[in-house]
This record gives sequence, C-alpha cells and structure tokens, in this order.
Amino acid sequence: MNTETIYTLKDLKTVEFSGTPLAVVGHPIKHSLSPAMHNAALDRLREQDSRFLDWAYYRFDIAPEQLAEALALFHKRSFLGLNLTIPHKVQAMELIQGVSVDARRMGAVNTLVWDELGYDGFNTDGYGLLRGLDLDLGLSLKDASIMLLGSGGAARAAAVQCILAGCARLYIGNRTPTHLQDLIAVLGAMPGGERVQPFILPELPQGLPEQGLLINATSLGLQSDDPAPIDLAQLPTAWKVYDMIYNPPVTALLEQARTVDRANANGLSMLVHQGARSLEIWSHHTVDAQMMMAAARHALELPPRDD
Ligand code: NAP
Repeated sequence: MNTETIYTLKDLKTVEFSGTPLAVVGHPIKHSLSPAMHNAALDRLREQDSRFLDWAYYRFDIAPEQLAEALALFHKRSFLGLNLTIPHKVQAMELIQGVSVDARRMGAVNTLVWDELGYDGFNTDGYGLLRGLDLDLGLSLKDASIMLLGSGGAARAAAVQCILAGCARLYIGNRTPTHLQDLIAVLGAMPGGERVQPFILPELPQGLPEQGLLINATSLGLQSDDPAPIDLAQLPTAWKVYDMIYNPPVTALLEQARTVDRANANGLSMLVHQGARSLEIWSHHTVDAQMMMAAARHALELPPRDD
C-alpha cells in the first residue's frame, strides 16, 4: 500500500487497508502535507515501540456529498484516526457520535478517533496555534492583546483558543459584517467573551496597547500576488505578526513585517503542531514534532530549520 497515493471512495470499498490505518480526508487533497508529516512521525514511533509497526497514514479525496458514506466505511474498516480538512470540518460534526466541548465552540472538528459506536471529534487547530506562537515568537496568549483578522473556520478556532487561554483583549476584524457577527455571538456566550472587540476591515480599532500580536486568519495571502490584509504601519511598532498561511512561506503581510524588523512567523508551526497533537490523541504517545516539521519543510522544498 502506498501512503502517497490519492485514494477515493471506490478504493475504500474495494482495497484492503490492513494493520492500523489513519488518513487525512479532504477535497482537494493532492497538496496536503499531512501524509508526509505523519508518516515521518510514525517512522520514529516504530523505532520506539513495536505496537506502531503496522500503523500507516493515507490520503483520501472525498467530495462533500460522499462524506457520510465515507465516514461510515472508514469506521467499518477500522481506521483508528482521521484528520479532516477543507471542506469537511464543519459538516462532519453532524455525522459523528461525539464532539469535544472545545471543538463544539470552535464549530469544527479536524481530528476523529474511532470508538466502537462511531467517531469522536476533536479540534487541534487552537492547540497548534498556541504551540506555534510559543516556539516561533516566544509568545503566550495569556494576558496578551491580540488582533485577529478573519471570521472563518481558522479564525473561529483561534478566537476560542485566545479566550480559553486568558488573553487580555481580543480585537477581531473581518471584511463581511454578518460573518463577524456570527463569530461574536459564539464568543459572547463564553466566559471571557466580554474581552472581544469587533471591527470591520479595513478600518482598525483606535487606542491599541503598545505590545500585542496580530494574527492573520484570512485567506488573503494564499495567492502569491495577494496584498496584505492591513497596512502594518498602523500598528504600534512592538506588535508581532503571525500569518496562518504557510504556502507561500512569505506573504505580503510578512514581507512588510520583515522590512521593518518586526518579529514574525508563518503558519507552518501551527500546521505541524495540530498534526502532532492529533497523532498524540490516537497513539497515547509523545510525538516527535521536529520530525514532522522537517518532513513538512522537505515537502515544501524549504531548507531545514536550524533550531
Ligand atoms: P475560510 O473559512 O474560508 O475563511 C476565510 C476568511 O478570509 C474569511 O474571514 C474571509 O472574510 C477572509 N477573506 C477572504 N478573502 C478576503 C479578502 N480578499 N479580504 C479580506 N478578507 C478575506 O478559511 P479558513 O479555513 O478560516 O482559513 C483561513 C486561512 O487560514 C487560510 O489561508 C488557511 O490556509 C489558513 N489556515 C492555516 C492553518 C495552519 O495550520 N497554519 C490552519 C487552518 C487554516 P469574509 O467573511 O469577508 O469572506
């Protein structure tokens, strides 16, 4: 069985996936880094513990209208764990047996764990962000002032994580007011939701504190000729910048940050650590995230990190 092959619903019906299979499920799925990251981490786990000898991580291209049938088949075929990516993270919540409290708040699941009665859903994106900020920028969300751009799935996970982590203030800006209002309604129902201050892009809020962190969770920057979502010159000079986008590795926003020497990082560390957390949930074992980072960078044709 080839872990780089793109499998389909038809394969799920006809191919025998022996051992302990795991998979990422999305549409499209061709460019996912998850198989490279997870199979690198599994290589390391196999060296440490023989119970991982038959574990393997595959990729499946499953269209939204196929998801219900596919999840039932994955379960029947005993796939121990699934990562869900675009566009399945929200739809899957109605198709599984249980959803963790945090994932319910985040409105999405990215990690499913097999149980006799069905799959249980978790969301590790917020955890990935937390670890990424710590490792790349030496930042904790606790007591921090955060400006979050976007109101889609990634912003929602980040916003919930900021509040759970005890941020001091959370400014959330979005282009479309109705999408922003939906997010604010969810956050307003959480303890700490009163720390949220919404604003409509491209205007920024006034009276910002001297220190803070800007997180871009919009998809503006995914195309190499996209402009930055805001002009960084409007933020106090000590504010740091985290762009959830990792491909391209340097967006126009990060380019602006680099030009004036602001601390900055892209979203690769978030991607790696959400994946590492998924594998820890499935394996109940510590996972080598550095190994996953090296595999992700290799897949993106980036040079190895020197830390
Ligand atoms: P999504 O649900 O489609 O949300 C997209 C967001 O981007 C919305 O808030 C949308 O605003 C905003 N947006 C799109 N085009 C814009 C434009 N031209 N100007 C201003 N705002 C614009 O997507 P998502 O799943 O949240 O993902 C958002 C980004 O995070 C993507 O780039 C994705 O690759 C990245 N991401 C990274 C990781 C990681 O591990 N590093 C994980 C998840 C996501 P409107 O409401 O106005 O449409």
